[in-house]
Amino acid sequence: MQQQPPAPIRALPDTLISQIAAGEVVERPASALRELLDNALDSGASRVTIHIEQGGLELIRVEDDGSGIAADELALALARHATSKIASLDDLEQARSLGFRGEALASIAAVAEVEIVSRRSDAAAAASIRAEVGRLDAVRPAAGAPGTTVDVRRMFHEIPARRQFLKSATTEAGWCVEMVRRAALAHPRIAFQLWQDGRQVLQLAPAEPLRRIADVLGRAFAADALALRAEFGPLRVHGLVTRPSAARARAEHQWLFVNRRWVRDRVLAHALRAAYADVLHGALQPQYALLLELPPERVDVNVHPAKSEVRFRDAQAVHQALRRAVQQTLAPALGARTPAADSAAAQADADGVLPAPAAPRASAPAAPWAPPRQGTLPLRSALQPWAPLPAVAPLSTAEAAPRPQPDPDPAHQPLGEALAQLHGIYILAQNAHGLVVVDMHAAHERIVYERLKAAWDARALPSQPLLLPVSFAASAAELGAVDEHADTLACLGLDIAAGGPASLVVRALPSLLARGDAVRLTRAVLAELAAYGSSARVEQGRNALLASMACHGAVRANRQLSLAEMNALLRDMEATERSDQCNHGRPTWRQVGLNELDALFLRGR
Ligand code: ADP
Ligand code: MG
Repeated sequence: MQQQPPAPIRALPDTLISQIAAGEVVERPASALRELLDNALDSGASRVTIHIEQGGLELIRVEDDGSGIAADELALALARHATSKIASLDDLEQARSLGFRGEALASIAAVAEVEIVSRRSDAAAAASIRAEVGRLDAVRPAAGAPGTTVDVRRMFHEIPARRQFLKSATTEAGWCVEMVRRAALAHPRIAFQLWQDGRQVLQLAPAEPLRRIADVLGRAFAADALALRAEFGPLRVHGLVTRPSAARARAEHQWLFVNRRWVRDRVLAHALRAAYADVLHGALQPQYALLLELPPERVDVNVHPAKSEVRFRDAQAVHQALRRAVQQTLAPALGARTPAADSAAAQADADGVLPAPAAPRASAPAAPWAPPRQGTLPLRSALQPWAPLPAVAPLSTAEAAPRPQPDPDPAHQPLGEALAQLHGIYILAQNAHGLVVVDMHAAHERIVYERLKAAWDARALPSQPLLLPVSFAASAAELGAVDEHADTLACLGLDIAAGGPASLVVRALPSLLARGDAVRLTRAVLAELAAYGSSARVEQGRNALLASMACHGAVRANRQLSLAEMNALLRDMEATERSDQCNHGRPTWRQVGLNELDALFLRGR
């Protein structure tokens, strides 16, 4: 085989350099739109209007009322590595602007026709410039108000190789809308309008951040959400997180922003999963829209061409802070709805905001009817500071055990008075609003679980000796786990000893679970412990271990409860954090309002 002589080394022509660079920055119409939006937002605009035609393939126009570009700098704006936003490495580290690389406009002009019309507020008139795949026209006078309008036409028209990677106009349009929604969520105080093929599809007035989230993501999202606002040293977080019961199979709304920039970040996403882990079944996705702010030098945004990935200087601290903030927001017993989220949803309701095209409409019929949901009852724990570990009393000894005195004020008993048990599954109770229906197993499991966690943390799980020790045939793995995890077992209040070469004897159970099935409970615990291997790893598996104990210790369906027991369970729920959903994220109780019952019987019509 004959070898070709190597080609000589050549410097690439500028246009080709830009086209190569454009491959990184401008993948599709939506990525060009993102760059134009960034520029408009960096210019200090208060209003941004976007037009797209044919999914942005024919036209992307972004119009702003920001600072404008001086006529004699228009050509420079289109040059590669030309920017007004940074001048030094120091500036780069401190940059608060969305752009700073000075390559977006040049990259876009390398793959499309670009026209910029711009006017600075101190200029007498506007000026325009046109550029087209490698060619730059002279600057001309133009008509226009202060601000900048950039038109991008016929993207990739001259570059068939790139065109073929594009999807249908509808799909590309969907991506463009996504970019506008991101920008709008991150910049609530800026007005946005989006026109798609001549039709207005989004109109957003300047708003408070939470209100903007409701405007963009829809009132159904906001109605299920809890407002979060937290500060950890230099890190600030705010936004909305949905109650676990509103989780969905699909990760539809998982919006994260760092310093007003949409990001996809593993650290943050993991922190959220961890925060929800305890209240959500693994297959379900939490929904959230959260904005993080921290000093620019603490986060490197210059690690990804589209700047949608970031690197935190102190990822661990950010992870912990975010997780804590979300956990605390989800924690309050009975999930008292926060006024902030409520008013955001209510306002969105009141003025019937134009919903984003992709935003799901609330599936419920028009107001005022709403699907039955958990109410907004006052929190007992907010009224009476609740000790972390309340007096531990197994459910069925409720009558005998010392309990807090019944609270005569109904406002302190949001779940009301028990009336009856339905089919061995539900507790029916009456409160000021009407009927309360409680899934007794789910609720009790949650309470037991929360108490187990508190007790575990306090290293104080009281133990209750069994009147008759129970022995059972045990596997080698079970015998090994008893040996290996003797400390943990003692800590859990479980007294287990070998009863022979192949059997174990249970002599005491945690008193929280004393009424549970001793053998099943013990086996479940040993199986969990064996799965962790070393006792050092038990702490990591703490929640799974305690959840499994709670499941075996909680009151089973089909058990008859006395009214006193039912009331005790209701009071426990009121005093327990996160008790409005079970360990798997399902609700534990529902309010059926008197008005809903009236409606059923056509009363008062
Ligand atoms: P970068 O945003 O990284 O600086 P760009 O290529 O996107 O790079 O823009 C180059 C320069 O053009 C910007 O630094 C800015 O000075 C100017 N510019 C672009 N778009 C606008 C706009 N909408 N309003 C004001 N100035 C703009
Ligand atoms: Mg830019």
